[in-house]
Amino acid sequence: MSDSWLSVADALATMQGQIQPVQETEEVHLQDALDRVLAEPVCANMDVPGYDNSAMDGYALRAAEADSDKPLTVVGTALAGHPFNGELPAQSCVRIMTGAQMPVASDAVIMQEQVQREGDLIRCQAPVGTGDNVRLKGCDIRQNDMILQQGQRLTPTHIGLLASLGMDQVRVLRRLRVALFSNGDELVLPGEPLHSPSQIYDSNRFTLHAMLQRLNVDVLDLGLIADDREALENAFQQAMRSADIIISSAGVSVGEADYTKDIMASLGQIGFWKIAMKPGKPFAFGRLGQAWFCGLPGNPVAALVTMDQIVQPMLRHLAGESVTPPVQLQARATSPIKKRPGRMDFQRGRFSQRDGELWAEPVGSQSSAVLTSVAQANCFLVLEQERGPIAAGESITIQPFDCLLT
Ligand code: AMP
Ligand code: MG
Repeated sequence: MSDSWLSVADALATMQGQIQPVQETEEVHLQDALDRVLAEPVCANMDVPGYDNSAMDGYALRAAEADSDKPLTVVGTALAGHPFNGELPAQSCVRIMTGAQMPVASDAVIMQEQVQREGDLIRCQAPVGTGDNVRLKGCDIRQNDMILQQGQRLTPTHIGLLASLGMDQVRVLRRLRVALFSNGDELVLPGEPLHSPSQIYDSNRFTLHAMLQRLNVDVLDLGLIADDREALENAFQQAMRSADIIISSAGVSVGEADYTKDIMASLGQIGFWKIAMKPGKPFAFGRLGQAWFCGLPGNPVAALVTMDQIVQPMLRHLAGESVTPPVQLQARATSPIKKRPGRMDFQRGRFSQRDGELWAEPVGSQSSAVLTSVAQANCFLVLEQERGPIAAGESITIQPFDCLLT
């Protein structure tokens, strides 16, 4: 294998080493914050909850007075938002609802199902310990705790946490602008008729556009670009003026790359990589003015896999996100799997659980042109670069499809 082959890990490391994350920030309202990347850590400005409160509907009392032989007098009510005013007198209790503030001098709540009530008196039917059914001030978040780190991509849970601290605005990094186009004379826009048997529909741009939507970037869709030097050069020039990154598919394989290579040589610095992965060997990466360029292979599965495995971590890094490696699990091969040493395979597979173990197998055709195999799959079988054929029962690494593919 020639030296010009890059392992997947080296390709990722090279890209991350060269790319500086965006710096510009903006404040957005919480309702616009989903999937944005935090520009700064968030520290709690208060305790949550802000006061001791009841976790149950029941009676607030002193645990030491909860004796089934001695009734307690109900002296008032505490509702969420409407506390009991004053201190709990001796030998008494307060009717309390979930979320209501604990009365002063009470230290436990007995569930309403565990008392017998007669008029203004209750008898405890179960033992009560100090602190039972009480949510203490600060048990969720402590004032000054760092609750979210810079580089965190905000999920619904994070947004809820920020709201629970009373924050309605959050400072995030700006969204990425991604220019996208497809390249090839054979391509036709979906919705238009095919005029000759040698034409095919441009599926890649729609797959890639949808994957980019999951990453919450602004997409500048430049459409279909013919195999024409001038058209390609115009597309690149338009894209590099406004985008942080340009993503194209096709036109980077041996024999095809010359056009692109020529243009790239005049506009920027581009390397044509052979990544030791299957599918997805041909891949172009480099700089065009202020923009980065990723030229993906044209075969639909190869375009999708390189977008998921190579471009995704790069985009997350460029967006300022702290990138974590994808979740990988160990499974056993249900049947023998064909594999040749030399490239890391991302075979399309299905995994399921049987007898407490994960099992996985390839699905459909493993051709890089057959998109239906991805539609049937729920994971990649990630087969190490130097590994050969795999026997039934052997342990293999699987990567459940992430949010870009589900
Ligand atoms: P290329 O990289 O240009 O040699 O293309 C490799 C294969 O991918 C060829 O069979 C192309 O027809 C196909 N292909 C290229 N672009 C697309 C696209 N946008 N959608 C679907 N198939 C494509
Ligand atoms: Mg082509």
